[in-house]
Amino acid sequence: MQTIYDLDLKDMEAWMAEHGQKPYRARQLFSWVYRRRAESFSVMSDLPKNIIEALENEFCLMPLHEAERQTARDGTVKYLFEMNDGASVEAVLMHFHFGDSLCVSSQIGCNMGCTFCASGLLKKQRDLTAGEMVGEVMYVQKMLDETGGRVDNIVIMGTGEPFDNYDNVMKFCSIVNSDHGLAIGARHITISTCGIVPKIDAFAAGHYQYNLAISLHAPNDELRRKLMPVDHAYPLDTLMASLRRYSEDNHRRITFEYILLSDVNDTDAHAVQLADLIRGMNAYINLIPYNQVDENGYRTAGEKKALHFYDVLMKHGVKATLRSRHGDDIDAACGQLRAKHEKAKNNA
Ligand code: SAH
Repeated sequence: MQTIYDLDLKDMEAWMAEHGQKPYRARQLFSWVYRRRAESFSVMSDLPKNIIEALENEFCLMPLHEAERQTARDGTVKYLFEMNDGASVEAVLMHFHFGDSLCVSSQIGCNMGCTFCASGLLKKQRDLTAGEMVGEVMYVQKMLDETGGRVDNIVIMGTGEPFDNYDNVMKFCSIVNSDHGLAIGARHITISTCGIVPKIDAFAAGHYQYNLAISLHAPNDELRRKLMPVDHAYPLDTLMASLRRYSEDNHRRITFEYILLSDVNDTDAHAVQLADLIRGMNAYINLIPYNQVDENGYRTAGEKKALHFYDVLMKHGVKATLRSRHGDDIDAACGQLRAKHEKAKNNA
């Protein structure tokens, strides 16, 4: 059964029109769903009875349920959600001084094949619908409602490649961004991509206010190809040209994500090459501690090395930040919890 979260306000208006209702009914429905966080259609007391019945026959509300939860000492919570068809995805809630951030998944599995990433351990089964992604946010928001909390920020950095599921992801963003609903500001939503250039171009043409983050992880094609097969299709010169166009047209700053892998991409030479690649762009580099994954040989670069890498970048005229670690003591790496869960299910 389709979830009502798949419908944006326009879709709800169209649905209401098909059922002989005026557009304001859609706003009522949208508000029941997102503002009042209704648990069922039957509580929507200002909607006509036959409309409630039609909604009940056609839609469900929550498209997922919680299958597992891990809470880290620092308060990071990792949820494993199971969809109606049994497929599972992860979402991670992190607490920052600037508010709570939810990391959502965009696909079941991932086909990008980045060699360091646990998500790629399980190939893509299917895309998530917009409504399933909204479901991740709504489930966690309802948890936070119990203590008066709020999902302040969304990062699409869970399992999946958002630009390999472009239409659903953009619809998801517009639903959670809508003023009539959760009203999560566009600048509080970040889309992270491994660098699918035609979709970056489409995103640029749409003049969206969402933040764009690029998973770079290497300053040259030779190394990047070893880490990220997507570099074969969209090498760095193509990627950087597209990003320069985006940044200039949209006057937006780009975040480059760079995980520091010990003895792989963390030498001074790498830092200098990286600085040369980025210098002059309206951008900064987010250095990310690597969450080690048992299944591959990569090791995280130590804190000292990370600080040194950061210094070299700054000395070479490039802004950088060092991301703090979250959820160290749980399976926080993208796809780790899900990979374990699927393995356990198959062994059962
Ligand atoms: N496919 C998208 C979004 C999902 S991955 C993308 O590539 O951007 C989100 C970020 O987490 C990416 O920068 C990814 O490279 C990084 N990542 C993946 N595995 C990781 C790990 N084990 N430790 C730290 N970061 C990881």
